Amino acid sequence: MRLRTFESFWLVKNGILYSYPSLQTDMNTEILVIGGGITGALISHALVEAGYEVMLIDRRDIAMGSSSATTSMLQYEIDVPLYQLSEMIGEAAAALCYRSGVQAILELEKLVKDQKIDCGFQMKESLYLAHSKKASIWLREEFEIRNKHQLGVKWLDAAEVKRNYGVICHGAILSEVAASVDAYKLAHELIQLNAKRGMKVFDQTEIARIDTSGIGPKVILETGQRIQTKKIVCCTGFESTKLLKEKVADLFYTYATVSEQGIQLNSAIQNTLIWDTGEPYLYMRTTDDGRFLIGGEDSLFNFQLFQQKIKERKAGKLIRKLEKIIPGIEFIEDFSWGGTFGTTKDGLPYIGKSPEYENTYFVLGFGGNGITFSVQGMGMILDFLKGKDHKLAHFYRFGR
Ligand SMILES: Cc1cc2nc3c(=O)[nH]c(=O)nc-3n(C[C@H](O)[C@H](O)[C@H](O)COP(=O)(O)OP(=O)(O)OC[C@H]3O[C@@H](n4cnc5c(N)ncnc54)[C@H](O)[C@@H]3O)c2cc1C
Repeated sequence: MRLRTFESFWLVKNGILYSYPSLQTDMNTEILVIGGGITGALISHALVEAGYEVMLIDRRDIAMGSSSATTSMLQYEIDVPLYQLSEMIGEAAAALCYRSGVQAILELEKLVKDQKIDCGFQMKESLYLAHSKKASIWLREEFEIRNKHQLGVKWLDAAEVKRNYGVICHGAILSEVAASVDAYKLAHELIQLNAKRGMKVFDQTEIARIDTSGIGPKVILETGQRIQTKKIVCCTGFESTKLLKEKVADLFYTYATVSEQGIQLNSAIQNTLIWDTGEPYLYMRTTDDGRFLIGGEDSLFNFQLFQQKIKERKAGKLIRKLEKIIPGIEFIEDFSWGGTFGTTKDGLPYIGKSPEYENTYFVLGFGGNGITFSVQGMGMILDFLKGKDHKLAHFYRFGR
């Protein structure tokens, strides 16, 4: 599966930070983490911290999948608004999922600080714009329910948004907890940290299948080697849809473009993630090296032959949309790219055991805040391994 176009900004910016050997012999390990993107990096970190013997493998180099293409806006806000999620799973459960997102961002901030990881992590606020008058009606309803559940929100009318941010909209929810990060660098640094603490890491090592027929699962690699283990945690991102018969996500393509450094922006925008209620939605943020990053223009159409052309057209459209809501902005494009993206029917991730595999867990943080979900997976996997239930397990379960 093509997870991204070639020009992935984070990869170009950072280069290949750390390289690992490929696996050439049969191996044993207590826990095998499959996937070395941001999810695998976070999950393996939690496992190493908890004292497990961990091996991590990836079919590509580390973090070369979606984690090198992401715009890495860390939001507690789920693609399905709280008022709609409440209708789907009940208000108390929906509020729990939203609150868990806030908690996850704060936990990631602590992790990055404690481990002193240089990955451009910045706490920010988040501004959710009504793109039309009609959308402002449900967005106001969304604000009321978020406010009721003390999610740290303020309602700003169109004039306040224009005055404070220079952005044109029909009203907005301002949330006090959000963040941004370079997920590619964070994944690399975390995996390197744990490799130094004894975690075995193999890149360019692809699994062909998981065999759960014997005692303890084993993984058979494309090259024929076997890894015998007690438990597997699949952090295989959007390609997990190839491992599972259950349809967990709809996949499509999303696009992003980043400006040259030194773009002139209203100072309030520097500290704010911005997204809107449009379909598909437009999202944007600054980077720690003085650029402005915008994303959106999702589409089902991803014909590989025309990928370069589509990407260029989509980047142009993103910039034109930006110029409409921030008149006078001078956005000079430096890079643009596209990547696979997936959404679930309720905006929630799949974290837990799939009935299709024994002794195997999946951490699939799909959606616009996939990374926030991956952080939640850290505590969930530790609880599952101890045989404990987790308060989110029911809502993030397979077969729902
Ligand atoms: C343009 C774009 C913008 C986005 N914006 C945001 C955002 O603002 N905020 C947010 O939270 N999320 C965002 N996302 C989603 C985010 O990128 C993903 O949620 C996140 O990167 C998923 O990380 P991951 O580690 O689960 O997957 P990946 O980074 O894809 O890692 C999975 C790894 O598993 C490996 N793998 C798969 N199959 C096998 C196999 N058979 N054998 C061995 N290894 C295998 C792959 O090689 C890959 O490296 C965005 C995505 C895109 C494309």
